[in-house]
Amino acid sequence: MRLLLLAPPGAGKGTQGERLAAWSGFRHIAAGDLLRAQALAGGPLGREIAACQARGDLVPDQIVLEVLTPAVVEAADRGGYILDGFPRTLPQATAAAELALRLGVRLDAAIYLYAPEEVLTRRLLGRASQGGRADDVADVIQHRLRVFAETTGPLVPYYTERGILVAVDADQPPDSVTAGIQAGLRERLHLSRSGGVE
Ligand code: ADP
Repeated sequence: MRLLLLAPPGAGKGTQGERLAAWSGFRHIAAGDLLRAQALAGGPLGREIAACQARGDLVPDQIVLEVLTPAVVEAADRGGYILDGFPRTLPQATAAAELALRLGVRLDAAIYLYAPEEVLTRRLLGRASQGGRADDVADVIQHRLRVFAETTGPLVPYYTERGILVAVDADQPPDSVTAGIQAGLRERLHLSRSGGVE
């Protein structure tokens, strides 16, 4: 199974990605985590990534692809992946589609987790107050939400047009979100097997 999670900051991508990985047995590839690890490793590349993350700006597509591609190739080889936070721009989506084609695999679903902006902001500030990430401060949170709306938002119609979008209300307790994702996936995979979509 090959899935991707498309969601604004604070929607619970990481939590749901881990659960989906445990449920499916496939690797959870979290773009933000891999990029943070690369930032910690230092060097010119690491410093550039760290600067983008600190500002809440997206890391340039070329760097993201360089960091993410080996993980995707390896996971595809083992039968599947849960992409969390990648792709996040239209050029990344095109590159991910080309990569899948080259590997002879197909994306089964793009799970879109949505919630009102006040809910997302409240959650991120809550995480910050418990010693969260360096980019969980009010002005950087606002910027990340704006970047999502402007740059990642267009991926919602992109995957809708391709017939693989599964939209789930993320303004619910984590267990209900997981159940919503599983129900949406069952429906989507069933439709796809019976030739109902695409
Ligand atoms: P969140 O969704 O809460 O912002 P992530 O860990 O997914 O958390 O991302 C944190 C930061 O990592 C982003 O603000 C961005 O700087 C960088 N990042 C993560 N994924 C991508 C991506 N696919 N393309 C560009 N930058 C990314």
